Amino acid sequence: MVDKKTIVAVYSHPDDGEFMAGGSLAKWAEEGHQVYAICATNGNLGAKVTDITPEELAKTRKKELTNAMKTLGGNPPIFLDLPDGFVRDHIRELKERLVYWFRKLKPHRVITWDPWKKYQIHPDHIEVGRIASEAAAFSCFPLMYPEHLEGGLKPYQPEEVWYMIPMEHKPNRLVDITKYMDKKMKALFCHQSQLEMMADLFVPGADPANLTEEQKTRLHEGADTMVRMVAQAFGSLSGGKIELAEAYYTIKLGPGMFDNYQEMIQEIIGMESDFLEIL
Ligand SMILES: [Zn+2]
Repeated sequence: MVDKKTIVAVYSHPDDGEFMAGGSLAKWAEEGHQVYAICATNGNLGAKVTDITPEELAKTRKKELTNAMKTLGGNPPIFLDLPDGFVRDHIRELKERLVYWFRKLKPHRVITWDPWKKYQIHPDHIEVGRIASEAAAFSCFPLMYPEHLEGGLKPYQPEEVWYMIPMEHKPNRLVDITKYMDKKMKALFCHQSQLEMMADLFVPGADPANLTEEQKTRLHEGADTMVRMVAQAFGSLSGGKIELAEAYYTIKLGPGMFDNYQEMIQEIIGMESDFLEIL
């Protein structure tokens, strides 16, 4: 019997999760875990077309993530409504809100961006990964934001932070998404406004704002092939045990942090850890 957990994914933008963690979220939701997404911004900069206002884009993108979460079997998304591209100017607010939501939702596991990834350019990805990690580490301290406690919440410590697609570190967790690939793709295609931004990649020369049905099909097929190849590459890390996977580097927090001391010591003395758990 699966121990039911609450799992919270913290994104910068509405489409951040499906590509990297959608299969895992679908799997965990089907297993009976409570799955949430907290999205720091409303994504109102994410378009290359000019015939749309930031307000209209934000509305579209919120609807897209709402549909994606429904497709994955998760709860409706929580939006913090910070301005897209400018999370760095709102760090204090982001930290307070994330500590608040961690105390309220009590997640066992937090999924987010790897803020230490080399060549990560997007400031929202860096800041959200960093502040989600800090909030997970500090939400257990009652003297931090005591007003939350006056409102009835209790200090709470998430046990794990999972970083999506680590590049600086070999993954130490793989999630078998072989059975959930179709659901992942369906959720990914909920983000139509963002797929059109990839038009150049799969349909060179196409006008993203005016794609024909044939071009849309080519775009979907191209994106599908690319995402499956990534999942196959991660699956191959299992040495043939599983076919399609999403990969993470996971750290433990609080009282559980010494569970992985062997792995940590190996790294400190310069030995590459071979620890890999398959879920
Ligand atoms: Zn993003």
